Amino acid sequence: SEPVHIIGGGMAGSEAAWQIARQGVPVILHEMRPVRGTEAHQTDGLAELVCSNSFRSDDAQTNAVGLLHEEMRRCDSLIMAMGDRHQLPAGGALAVDRVAFSDAVTKTLTEHPLVTIERGEIAGLPPADWSSVIIATGPLTSPALSKAALDLTGEDSLAFFDAIAPIVYRDSVDMDVAWMQSRYDKGETEADRAAYLNCPMTKEQYEAFVDALIDGPKTEFKEWEKDTPYFEACLPIEVMAERGRETLRHGPMKPRGLTNAHNPDVKPWAVVQLRQDNALGTLFNMVGFQTKLKYGAQTDIFRMIPGLEKAEFARLGGIHRNTFLNSPKLLDKSLRLKLRPEWRFAGQVIGVEGYVESAAMGLLAGRFAAAERLGQTQPAPPATTALGALVEHVTGGHLTGSKGGFQPMNVNFGLFPEIDTPPNPEPGKRYRGKEKSVARKRAMSARALADLRTWLGPEAKAAE
Ligand code: FAD
Repeated sequence: SEPVHIIGGGMAGSEAAWQIARQGVPVILHEMRPVRGTEAHQTDGLAELVCSNSFRSDDAQTNAVGLLHEEMRRCDSLIMAMGDRHQLPAGGALAVDRVAFSDAVTKTLTEHPLVTIERGEIAGLPPADWSSVIIATGPLTSPALSKAALDLTGEDSLAFFDAIAPIVYRDSVDMDVAWMQSRYDKGETEADRAAYLNCPMTKEQYEAFVDALIDGPKTEFKEWEKDTPYFEACLPIEVMAERGRETLRHGPMKPRGLTNAHNPDVKPWAVVQLRQDNALGTLFNMVGFQTKLKYGAQTDIFRMIPGLEKAEFARLGGIHRNTFLNSPKLLDKSLRLKLRPEWRFAGQVIGVEGYVESAAMGLLAGRFAAAERLGQTQPAPPATTALGALVEHVTGGHLTGSKGGFQPMNVNFGLFPEIDTPPNPEPGKRYRGKEKSVARKRAMSARALADLRTWLGPEAKAAE
């Protein structure tokens, strides 16, 4: 049969290609790298992770992204299979070796007999003779394509700023000052506990650091960028510092759950955490340290951090613009462009945020496109599942009219339909503290997996 064309071989496009090919439908995957690059990608590999190497929490019972992992595994996700295969120790999180992960995705798709990979930019709207297309070009969609899409839809682009955190070489960290420990000593094994490096600060050091962040030279913005808001979950550290002197100490630099191995009796005033970034353990990224400080200023200011005085940086932080569609207006529940139903959109460009969420939308777009080719009907997953909750989000199910604009979102339990709190399993006892919200999350997760099972039908049994 005729192939489905996918534009963009990132998190969403790679997953979509796999989902289509595994159902016996041919795919042509168009990826512009290495012919043309983006501001953030550094390789020509498929599914390159552009910043952190974490798929976040892997707890499917009480964490929405952990639940999304599990749902995707049950849908035979390539991204999850390769993420699991190239997992690094990271406490309760799923962190991956970014190079091995991307290589494995690239190899699997390259070797699949129904997948053809074509390198080159699609510099405008897809050709008219492509009868089924998935556009998964991501937050850094090439300008030629995004302009064409905006002209077609007649929309103004919606945009916000996103930022990336620096990566440090492990052997340049002073281990007489820094120590290895995961917060609250989470994680079973020695390797889990060694997945984080910690750098302590006294009050004086913290105050001087905050001053330096506020005073440091920032990247200048072009005029059109001035009104663009920040994505709240990914604020640059200097913006957090400007919001209040204590903000960082209660955010990425919080000292809670950490004990200085070199000086256990003195509680640090603040702590900078670095997380293992590759399997070898040679690279560590600075957790929560997205920044738009100029490169020179970054090295000077980050070397003020105790333990990082001689730090060498494998990559410095940076900032970029993120463009996404006004999906609630433009897309239907099977992720088709209402104006051109033969085109689907998937990934971050439809208004989800995060590697896993982007791949999840690729997974669904791929399944929808394959079903169409096979003459089957494939409804969207129920809104009680993490997959379905994201579809609801991007197609406007959660927008409350006057409450304003559509914003990209990580998956979270706030997107799920309400559920009654289950009774306390201990008869006669009341829930205390967080127990109630944990019980509700568990109930939502159980409901999601049961409903996913129904949605998957006969395929479900094999996957469990
Ligand atoms: P991508 O993975 O970016 O894939 C899109 C692909 O399309 C790219 O390979 C690109 O080369 C290709 N392409 C673009 N235009 C064309 C064209 N016209 N023709 C052919 N090919 C084209 N998420 C996290 O979970 N954690 C993070 O730490 C994180 N940090 C981020 C940092 C930055 C700088 C950016 C930009 C995003 C970050 N994100 C992060 C958000 C998001 O999860 C990732 O961008 C994710 O990769 C999005 O998946 P995607 O498939 O939609 O896009």
